[in-house]
Amino acid sequence: MATKISISFRTGKSTLFNAVAFFKLWSPSSNVTFPPPATMITNGHRSVCTKQIQQSQISVSNQSAFNISVPGFPVDSPLSGLEDVMIGYILGKTKATEVAHLAWKYIVQEGDTVVDATCGNGHDTLALVKLVTADKTQRGRVYSLDVQKFALEKTLALLDESLDKDEKEIVKLVETCHSKMHEVVPKGEPVRVVAFNLGYLPGGDKALITGPKTTLMALESAKDLLTHGGLISVVGYVGHPGGREEFETVLEFGSRLPVDEWSCCELRMLNRPLAPVLVFMFKR
Ligand code: SAH
Repeated sequence: MATKISISFRTGKSTLFNAVAFFKLWSPSSNVTFPPPATMITNGHRSVCTKQIQQSQISVSNQSAFNISVPGFPVDSPLSGLEDVMIGYILGKTKATEVAHLAWKYIVQEGDTVVDATCGNGHDTLALVKLVTADKTQRGRVYSLDVQKFALEKTLALLDESLDKDEKEIVKLVETCHSKMHEVVPKGEPVRVVAFNLGYLPGGDKALITGPKTTLMALESAKDLLTHGGLISVVGYVGHPGGREEFETVLEFGSRLPVDEWSCCELRMLNRPLAPVLVFMFKR
């Protein structure tokens, strides 16, 4: 028999972070259990689970409604993959960049405009293209920026081998500093995600590195370009000279964004002080 659980969210766009709180409610296995009665508080809303769940259906109301059925794993649910990625991160197996990609997956809608502020080898650009063209009915737009031609060439090569012609057409590769992103994105075009993967190009010239001054300018640009319901996503590195200082700038920027308009968080490994650090800044 199906047991129905309703969970309310104050904002539909905070699905990822709220969802983490209750991901144990569902699993691919058919016997999902928790002690009855179980009470969960998610984002200030309370949901009481009164039964052991054999087969469950969860509906989430308030903007982002979705249904999960167990068994019959929710392959098309926005929650798919959440458990693996977050548990993988907690267990020290999933990379910070994968967690960033997961966050984008929950934020980006098909047809959106997004910016890769540091395209490097193109992995982030590729992930973003896939999200904005999910079922190919709308095209979306990806602006990918880098200061070095070599990075743009690497990105282009990756896109050539991974995408079809239509998908490639939505990407605009631009050789420029990300502090100029407002000159790249057409005026009035709402941006859903601005993604930063700071530092230097893996396998490239370590002198061509992001720095606090231009990163801060780029964050300011991103803040203004971003639409409500959009996300600034930063993967930062503190292990190289200047990295910590740059990352402090990112933290300061996020910390002073007003709480009524922004939700900002940091995710990092406590006992791996040099591991990449994630910062998410969500514009409500
Ligand atoms: N996102 C990439 C990795 C990025 S590495 C991937 O998925 O592979 C960081 C990149 O930032 C490098 O390619 C470097 O050239 C670029 N970069 C450094 N300073 C920059 C700046 N001011 N504006 C834009 N890109 C910059």
